[in-house]
Amino acid sequence: MPAQTDLFLCLKDNFGVLLHDPQSGATAAIDAPEAAPIEAALQKNGWRLTDILVTHHHADHTQGIGALKEHHHCRVVAPRDEAKRIAHVDETVGEGDIVRVGSLESRVIDTPGHTAGHISYFFPADKLAFVGDTLFSIGCGRVIEGNAEMMWNSLLKLRALPDETRFYCGHEYTEANIRFAKTVEPGNKALAARAQEVANLTAAHRFTIPATIGAEKAANPFLRADDPEVARAVGLAGSPAWKVFAEVRERKNRS
Ligand code: ZN
Ligand code: FE
Repeated sequence: MPAQTDLFLCLKDNFGVLLHDPQSGATAAIDAPEAAPIEAALQKNGWRLTDILVTHHHADHTQGIGALKEHHHCRVVAPRDEAKRIAHVDETVGEGDIVRVGSLESRVIDTPGHTAGHISYFFPADKLAFVGDTLFSIGCGRVIEGNAEMMWNSLLKLRALPDETRFYCGHEYTEANIRFAKTVEPGNKALAARAQEVANLTAAHRFTIPATIGAEKAANPFLRADDPEVARAVGLAGSPAWKVFAEVRERKNRS
C-alpha cells in the first residue's frame, strides 16, 4: 500500500511532515521542529507516532523530539556524525543504511554541507525523499559547516534520484528563492512556469512542496551549476561546477 503523508507548518516557516504506513499503522515524523503542531497532525489523522527521522542537528529540526518521545515512546533515528549533538537518539545511521517505518523502507543518503553530518531519507517504492535543509524548492540550504564542493556533491546525489521523486524539504522558502533564481536565469522557461505555479498555489493558500526532482532540475539554479548557461550568467564560463555553485550560493547570501 502506498505511503501517506501530511504536511503542515511549524514555528515560522519550518515544514513538519508525517509519513504513514497504512499497512502496519506506523507513522514517522521527519524532524521535529515543534511538538504541538505534530501532535495536532497525528490527532487529526488518527495516527500513532512510532518514529522520528532526523535530518540534522539544528534546533529548528530537533527541539520537539523530547516532548514527542516522552508522550509516544517513539524511536529516534539520527545522523551518525551528529548524534552527540541531538538528544534522545536511539539509532544512528549513515550512507546506504536502511531505515524502516513499518513496511516502508528508506535508504539513507549522506548530504553534508548545510551541516557536516546532514542526511536525507529516500523511499524508493514510493519515490519520496526527505531532504531537510540540503535542497529547497528553487533553492538550497546555506553552507554552514561544510564547503561549497561538499554541498554541490550532496545536491548531485539528490539530483540523481528518479525524476518522479517528490521531495519534502525543511522550509517554505520557495517564493523568495524564485525571486533570486530569476536574477540568475531570467530567461529560464521552466523557472517561469514554476513561478506561475507557485503564485497559483500561494493564492490558494497551499504549500509549494512537494516538488519533483525532474521539475526542480530544470528550474533550480543550485542544481544547474554544471549548465554552461548558469556558469556564463555568473561570469564563470569554463569553471568547475562546484565553483559556479559557490558563486550562486554567495550571491544568494548577499541578496
Ligand atoms: Zn538547518
Ligand atoms: Fe532549518
